[in-house]
Amino acid sequence: MTDPHSGSCHCGAVRFEVKLEGASISEGIYRCNCTLCRKKGIVMKPMPAEAFALVAGQESLSVYQWNKNIAAHYFCKTCGVYTHHRRRRDPSQISVNFECLEGVETPSAESIGLANGAEHE
Ligand SMILES: [Zn+2]
Repeated sequence: MTDPHSGSCHCGAVRFEVKLEGASISEGIYRCNCTLCRKKGIVMKPMPAEAFALVAGQESLSVYQWNKNIAAHYFCKTCGVYTHHRRRRDPSQISVNFECLEGVETPSAESIGLANGAEHE
C-alpha cells in the first residue's frame, strides 16, 4: 500500500485520505481503555493532523464531545461509524479508525498497543 491511504465510513458518505510519507500504516496502532473507547471497541492509528484530509462528507459528520471537551470524536450521521478524532492528549494529532482504511488487514492482538485513557478521565 502506498500513500495516500484512502479511508471511509461504512456507507461511503464520509471519505478521507491519510499521507504518512512512507511510514508504516500499522505502526503505533492502539486501543484505549477509557470509557468511550472501550464501548466503541476500535483500533486507532495516530498521526499529525496535517497527515489527515477529509475528502468528502463534512455535512455527514457528527461530533461527540464529553468530559473536558478537548477531544472531538467524529462519526457518520448515516451509518454511525466512527471515522476519526482529535486527540485529547495532543490536539495537534488525529487518530483514525484503523479498519476504515482501505486494504488493511485486521491487526493481530499483539500488534495493538494500549493507551491508558482511563487514567486521564
Ligand atoms: Zn456513513
